[in-house]
Amino acid sequence: MNWINPPIFLRIYYGTDVIWNIPSKEKTIFLTFDDGPLPETTPEILTILKKYNAKATFFHVGRNVKQHPHIYRQVFSEGHVTGNHSFDHLNGWKTNTNNYVGNVKKCEEYFHTNLFRPPFGRIKFQQIKNLQKDYKIILWSVLSYDFHHRVTKEQCLENVKKNTKSGSIVVFHDSLKAREKVLYALPKLLEYYSKMGYQFAAIPAL
Ligand SMILES: [Zn+2]
Repeated sequence: MNWINPPIFLRIYYGTDVIWNIPSKEKTIFLTFDDGPLPETTPEILTILKKYNAKATFFHVGRNVKQHPHIYRQVFSEGHVTGNHSFDHLNGWKTNTNNYVGNVKKCEEYFHTNLFRPPFGRIKFQQIKNLQKDYKIILWSVLSYDFHHRVTKEQCLENVKKNTKSGSIVVFHDSLKAREKVLYALPKLLEYYSKMGYQFAAIPAL
């Protein structure tokens, strides 16, 4: 089942404690990249973003920041915002709250941020309650499906084009699986929306 836009039952389940979009007076799109930083993907994405003067938010997996601290520093130094995506990319629905919160906090040994995105978008209510003391919990408006083996790079581009509007939070991945699709779709989207007067901004941290 493909959910390019978040299904209504998830919106009801999570309530108002999580962020799905960022209403904006300007024409603004919030691009996000999950699961890095990785040397095979993240620097190429940064080069593309720079060409369009676009800023974005990278939800890093702590384990990857530990392995590739220089790429984390590059993301940060180029003016993008980094968010926490847990240390081991845990599924909140399958993890008890103490372990889950501990795994998120473990990232603090390697980088600090006030933004958190639950891996797979799966988080329990109690986990939200625990984490929202320290983090804004960011979900999304539009999922590109760049990670999905049955979605082509052309479909990935169309998923975003058909569903994105001002204030949308759009999910891509700087993972190996998504590499070909994100590198195909991203420059085309930046070109398309820039011509229509949109800007690309990072999600404001607290
Ligand atoms: Zn993820």
